[in-house]
Amino acid sequence: MSDRFDEGEETKEEKIDLTEGHEDASATKNAGKSDNSDYEDVCFICRRPESKAGKMIKLPNHICICDDCMHKTMETVSQFDYQGMLNNPQFQNELDQMAKKGFPNISFVNLADLQGDGGIPNKQKLKKKKKKEGQEPVLNIKNIPAPHKIKASLDEYVVGQDHAKKVISVAVYNHYKRVATNTMDEIEIEKSNMLMIGPTGSGKTYLVKTLARLLDVPLAIADATSLTEAGYIGDDIESVVSKLLAAADNDVEKAEQGIIFIDEIDKIAKKKNTNSRDVSGESVQQGMLKLLEGAEVEVPVGANSKNAMVPLATVNTRNILFICGGAFPDLEDIVKERLNKSASIGFNSELKDKYNKDKNILSKVTVEDIRKFGMIPEFIGRLPIIYTLDGLTRDMLVKILKEPKNAILKQYQKLLELDEVKLEFNDDALEAIADKAMERDTGARALRSIIEDFMLDIMYEIPKDDNIGKVTITREYILGTGGPVIDIRSNQLLEDPNKGKQSSKE
Ligand code: ADP
Repeated sequence: MSDRFDEGEETKEEKIDLTEGHEDASATKNAGKSDNSDYEDVCFICRRPESKAGKMIKLPNHICICDDCMHKTMETVSQFDYQGMLNNPQFQNELDQMAKKGFPNISFVNLADLQGDGGIPNKQKLKKKKKKEGQEPVLNIKNIPAPHKIKASLDEYVVGQDHAKKVISVAVYNHYKRVATNTMDEIEIEKSNMLMIGPTGSGKTYLVKTLARLLDVPLAIADATSLTEAGYIGDDIESVVSKLLAAADNDVEKAEQGIIFIDEIDKIAKKKNTNSRDVSGESVQQGMLKLLEGAEVEVPVGANSKNAMVPLATVNTRNILFICGGAFPDLEDIVKERLNKSASIGFNSELKDKYNKDKNILSKVTVEDIRKFGMIPEFIGRLPIIYTLDGLTRDMLVKILKEPKNAILKQYQKLLELDEVKLEFNDDALEAIADKAMERDTGARALRSIIEDFMLDIMYEIPKDDNIGKVTITREYILGTGGPVIDIRSNQLLEDPNKGKQSSKE
């Protein structure tokens, strides 16, 4: 009797265990579900999302099938002549033999493999349109601030380039005003796509990145060199829209208000004197025309190429702001040639090589010059706003080092502050860094690598010694003829203990 009782208790315990396990499993399932509820269901057969294919029929194991596919399947099944087939003695014979040998060429689908919405990872699914409460962006595109305010925000990050910042502020203001009011009546406001010309490292990408961050719109940066005409090796032109969709978390509505920056646009200039098919130059320009103007494009979600396994989304590029940028290396000569030619003709003829030494020659560029460079007229026509960025001067480089909100020096100062060490740079040290960067001729990009070089020793040595309270970087240290000045916490001035090491290194 007592034995039986014990048994009963054991089974009860087991039962409790089982339910606990079950609860856990369902909890994880639910957690997964709440994760997935942000995404649309995707048809298991045609891979279209719910927003395109309509309501889904839900089958076990999270498999969804759209109405169309379900109908097609039913039709196919109902047209099949089972009766005829089953009454056929030859078929019966074959069936018997197959049953004995096993079924050749038939593999059974493992339903477990199909779990989780037809095996599509979340990154390939479209996000449901849902407003999330988040942080307010600095500049709100729904209520776009006046151009001078946009420029003031850009000023905090981007040094110099006043003209470019002014043009971009006005263009963005007009663009988002056009998007917000959606005026598509008889006075259609044209799109403000831009072409940005400026030497490498002068802040083209940085300007666009800053702008997108301030506006809190998705941004896709693509390199024109990797683009080819559809069907050739390389990225399709439409892949840039796919990138934007990914940047917008697969939210089509958000992507349609984003910015696409296409860098190195000068590399797709028409090739001169070639007989072969120009799949990465002129054809790419041709292919981009409809995107720039505004078109509905079907792009794969979460993948680079369209294939049967990825769902497609339709994105309208009408409100996407396209900004193209490039260094246009030989454009200066074209502008110079034109200006010199016109200057040396007529009564007002001036010195023939007057413009040869003009530093800001690029700012005098015209559409005709760009066409001569190799961009096709239809392409330039769709980029109505053309402006140039100045090459960075020594003074600008010094400012870039210390002034922007996230200046490189500020970043290092913050890093050392975490070790309670103060970092200072003498003014002449900053000038020495700028001089070194000017030699490299890669614009502001050189600054970081130069600083990284000599900060390495400092970042390595400082944490060793708790007594160090302040480090001052001197011109001599940059030039390799001396060391930094180290102050210990009691404010006693000491020479750098590594000075000997430094000079022996040099
Ligand atoms: P590019 O013109 O070749 O696209 P980038 O925009 O990539 O050059 O510039 C490289 C880096 O240099 C940027 O990440 C930024 O930190 C810095 N930089 C360049 N120009 C400026 C500028 N005018 N103001 C502040 N930082 C700049």
